Amino acid sequence: MSTTNAAVPTVKLFIDGKPVESTSSEWREVINPATQEVLARVPFATRDEVERAVASAKAAFKTWKKTPIGARARIFLKYQQLIRENMKELAAILTAEQGKTLPDAEGDVFRGLEVVEHAAAIGNLQLGELANNVAGGVDTFTLLQPLGVCAGITPFNFPAMIPLWMFPMAIATGNTFVLKPSEQDPMVTMRLVELAHEAGIPPGVLNVIHGGPDVVNAICDHPDIKAVSFVGSTRVGTHVYNRASLAGKRVQCMMGAKNHAVILPDANKEQTLNAIAGAAFGAAGQRCMAVSVAILVGEANEWIPDLVAKARTLKVSGGTEANTDVGPLVSCAALDRVSGLIERGIQEGAKLELDGRNPQVAGYEKGNFVAPTLFSGVTAQMSIYREEIFGPVLCVVSVKTLDEAIELINANPNGNGTAIFTRSGAAARHFKEEIDVGQVGVNVPIPVPVPLFSFTGSRGSKLGDLGPYGKQVVQFYTQTKTVTERWFDENEVGGAVNTTIHLK
Ligand code: NAD
Repeated sequence: MSTTNAAVPTVKLFIDGKPVESTSSEWREVINPATQEVLARVPFATRDEVERAVASAKAAFKTWKKTPIGARARIFLKYQQLIRENMKELAAILTAEQGKTLPDAEGDVFRGLEVVEHAAAIGNLQLGELANNVAGGVDTFTLLQPLGVCAGITPFNFPAMIPLWMFPMAIATGNTFVLKPSEQDPMVTMRLVELAHEAGIPPGVLNVIHGGPDVVNAICDHPDIKAVSFVGSTRVGTHVYNRASLAGKRVQCMMGAKNHAVILPDANKEQTLNAIAGAAFGAAGQRCMAVSVAILVGEANEWIPDLVAKARTLKVSGGTEANTDVGPLVSCAALDRVSGLIERGIQEGAKLELDGRNPQVAGYEKGNFVAPTLFSGVTAQMSIYREEIFGPVLCVVSVKTLDEAIELINANPNGNGTAIFTRSGAAARHFKEEIDVGQVGVNVPIPVPVPLFSFTGSRGSKLGDLGPYGKQVVQFYTQTKTVTERWFDENEVGGAVNTTIHLK
């Protein structure tokens, strides 16, 4: 927690269409992870501030739910334009507070922008169905009606994309929203919220409160919040799922991962090495879809030196430096955690082929850097295999057959993403059929689907049934109501009493 420092700007809450200075006595510093410069102070909202945000969203719902679908869509058309126009500024804020490189920060914003574009198509997505003459003169149709106040809780690693997974689709479907961004990097999220209001989101429809466990628990328990979307670690996601479900809410939690890439010896070698290095070490490994385990099958095991050589070519530096591949980890705590896990890997007998600890990064001596690190000889019992490292550390596991690789992946509790690299259509088809993971790449290392589809992590990486964007999210944020109706002709002769369950 920080002490008061008037020179450092404060991150505002956003309630009723306006930035609000918190009266909280509890604050935390937002720190540039490449330099340790304090960028801002973020408040942990008080109970009263949470109440005000929810009350504002509840009041706004009364009119927002009746706003014509075309009017809602046009706000998101304008919003996507504003995000494009401000892309460079958004990326610069994101890099300063989170650490990822500027091109990757633009990618973070862009993947969220795609969901905003999707929200602008809400007219085609929130359509009901109608069956004519389900009985004589009787029709049945469905309405997809908004739920009310919905809430989102987001992680540090995609502070633009993940808030944009949530509030645009919730609001486009007619709900109002309370967002709790990551307290580690809330500044780009706040800029996106300001732009949403500039695009025409009415006061109260989108509110932001900052904080930690107390604020999250208040969201889970609040009787006026109808649905909660969470993205973050498995530990916190499981807690949020249980607590909010118990309070009667609709909940979806997208959580931790351990993503395996399987490399067959017939794969295109150069393309595969590039893909694995990018997916393992890009964003300093702080992606839920990062490849953290490479399973080399048969003769592909001879590629370990090539993989190490490829990892050595990546440039480690501040995210604003040209040609940087690997920026810093988000915090000193993350640096300690990742360094500790590398040490455990050595102690537990894995072979450290490339040690990225304590790299010398000119001009960024105080940054939280770990350079690409690679272990071979990793087994399923080791901590570096069992835990989500969330750093630029690749674990190489050696197996003899594709079926052995499939068995290993299916035995892992996580099911966020996986990929296979091969030139064999038959091997890829076998993999797609047999693998028990929600998102599969074939010669594509990070298979996050575009918003025409939904994000479909599975098993231990997901709680709740429906994904955070795509078609599934329209169901998540709406209640399907069926209406069965009959109209009598004034001149119709009255029928008999019907005591059966059948419509006639
Ligand atoms: P985190 O779970 O620590 O934090 C997520 C949110 O929960 C934050 O807003 C935080 O303030 C809040 N929180 C933290 N501790 C809490 C507690 N004890 N009680 C209640 N709320 C609490 O996650 P993180 O470190 O910000 O993000 C990294 C994690 O997110 C990784 O595990 C990563 O795999 C996961 N992630 C998953 C996806 C996905 O789609 N499956 C996407 C991105 C990140």
